[in-house]
Amino acid sequence: MKSIIVIGHKNPDTDSIVSALVFTDFLKKVKKSILGFSDFKIKPARAGSLNKETKFVLDYFKQKTPVLVNNLKNKDVILVDHGEFSQSAKGVERANIVGVLDHHKLGGIESALPIFYRSEPIGSTSTLIAKMFLENNLSFDKKTAGLLLAAILSDTFKLTSPTTTNEDKEIVKILAKASKENMNKLAQKMFQAKSNIEGISMDELVSMDYKEYEGGGISFGIGLYETTHPQKIKEKKEEILSALKRLKKKRKVKLMFFAVVDILKKNSEMFLLGEEEKLTAQKAFKKKAKGNLLFLSCVSSRKKQMIPLVVSFLEK
Ligand code: MN
Ligand code: MN
Repeated sequence: MKSIIVIGHKNPDTDSIVSALVFTDFLKKVKKSILGFSDFKIKPARAGSLNKETKFVLDYFKQKTPVLVNNLKNKDVILVDHGEFSQSAKGVERANIVGVLDHHKLGGIESALPIFYRSEPIGSTSTLIAKMFLENNLSFDKKTAGLLLAAILSDTFKLTSPTTTNEDKEIVKILAKASKENMNKLAQKMFQAKSNIEGISMDELVSMDYKEYEGGGISFGIGLYETTHPQKIKEKKEEILSALKRLKKKRKVKLMFFAVVDILKKNSEMFLLGEEEKLTAQKAFKKKAKGNLLFLSCVSSRKKQMIPLVVSFLEK
């Protein structure tokens, strides 16, 4: 019998953790054998430590934290909330991928056998899971609805991000009702938790929501920090730049970026480590930097507004 692990991306966010938890539940509950086999054990996992927002969400809904799994080698795995190996835990190339559930770009995942694969261009993986509950006439208990709601609000900045779709909005209404939560109040508490940098070092801050990509054979990393108080972070510019230098050395990428996203105004400030980063970002975004900072107005989504521009510039 297969023993499956459901796991999100490295440097997990609320959507990655909630997706792993609730998709596990879904697969236990659903009558159809959507994986192509039906005899299996399954458990949720995480590929890194929780950020402050996710900690708050799990606490608030009295949900246990999934186990940490650092190596996927030889394991049966369902990947949630990511679709490329560079964002998975170690050993993924040697794992047996039995399913993928996602809302990001495709990134060259391969499997030996036909697998369950579902990805939609919507606000969060949690939206997709909620849809699957509805498609299968499964009802949400209060806690499940609350967790899914929190994850959608997190990924979409309370339904205001450029990745938000009408489906996300409809699902949020259903989940708010089922969880008896007020969307605005819950989001406010989450953003507050997310914006609290007390006790967090700049090394932790730049790698907390860090992802790696590739364009034209050039590897690059982009860390994000989403906050309601961007000014507080900008004041630490020098510390952030030296933390980025360390991260670049450790990750061995060609280019290293970090963007502070203003959740309320939907703007970003990109920190540019050196001349190569500066040149690339200025050309990719067609904007002029001020020193080591590049202000990007109306840019808040890495997957929709940052990655495509950087990749297409690097491919030229
Ligand atoms: Mn995510
Ligand atoms: Mn997501």
